[in-house]
Amino acid sequence: MEMQMEFIRKLPIPADLKKQFPVTEKIREIKEQRDEEIAGIFRGEDPRFLLIIGPCSADREDAVLDYMTRLARVQEKVKDKIFIIPRVYTNKPRTKGVGYKGMLHQPDPDKGEDMLAGLIAIREMHSRVIRETGFTCAEEMLYPENHRYLSDLLSYVAIGARSVEDQLHRMVASGIGIPAGMKNPTGGDISVMMNAMVAAQSRQKFIYRGWEVQTTGNPYAHAILRGYVDRFGRSHPNYHYEDLQNLFDEYQKTDLENPAVIVDCNHSNSGKQYLEQIRIAKDVLHSMRMSKDIHGLVKGLMIESYLEDGSQKIGEGVYGKSITDPCLGWDKSERLIYELADELE
Ligand code: PEP
Ligand code: MN
Repeated sequence: MEMQMEFIRKLPIPADLKKQFPVTEKIREIKEQRDEEIAGIFRGEDPRFLLIIGPCSADREDAVLDYMTRLARVQEKVKDKIFIIPRVYTNKPRTKGVGYKGMLHQPDPDKGEDMLAGLIAIREMHSRVIRETGFTCAEEMLYPENHRYLSDLLSYVAIGARSVEDQLHRMVASGIGIPAGMKNPTGGDISVMMNAMVAAQSRQKFIYRGWEVQTTGNPYAHAILRGYVDRFGRSHPNYHYEDLQNLFDEYQKTDLENPAVIVDCNHSNSGKQYLEQIRIAKDVLHSMRMSKDIHGLVKGLMIESYLEDGSQKIGEGVYGKSITDPCLGWDKSERLIYELADELE
């Protein structure tokens, strides 16, 4: 039988695209400065609380820039207590493997897939966010071989719930030089996430993009709790006091560096009831106040937030409304950030 794969065209390698769309000296400085501050937070030297917040998918540049510009104004007001890393997620994993897979695949969600245009579009959008807001952002590292197309622009990656058991994701996370949040898998097995952190904090030698490579290990690989689904597909939370205490205990059994967790307030923690994110965020802060161990472990929250509440079907075209997971709208998100800042001492 013929190969069932057509090789459409050869794409530029990351080094080529970086040369063609270079970062400015200013962007380089901003990223270096922010990376150092974020590392200080993970080392426990800087008490500020991380907020990884933004849309489930960064689907259109105009609405994303609008959102990020508003977020930058809020960041300025809470900067003594909260350090914001916006979610600019352009690579979307799909539970069924079909549907919108992010700006990388579809630079225009209403048109067909175009990978070269997608690569250029996501580089341009990330650069614009840094230039216009001073934020360097978070992405999901969905395709480890693509990481270097954005590696000079990102300050944080998450390894998604569907990828965290994969060896290549773990090994690449060990060599990226920025914090990598390892999510618990969709089924909720915490040991999978713990093992992912061991792999990502270890030195690794492997094949990457046709090269034999050696990594240093990533001391900032950490946990993200995102809730889980049971064998009937029902969502269950794992952000409660007992879950956080249990994660603290699991960390005690390991030699992992910089024990840390980010609590993802949406996904299976909210059962995608996006408004619940407000209560969940405050519940986590409450647990932190109740336990010194938990206070030291929880480094921040992840929140799915966009300009409009909820979500829409692709093609409905509402500006600033999610076409993937439902998000908390702007007004509620802004209020929540101020409330969290007030509650953090
Ligand atoms: C996401 O962050 O939008 C996401 C897909 O997360 P998870 O891997 O936890 O499902
Ligand atoms: Mn999501």
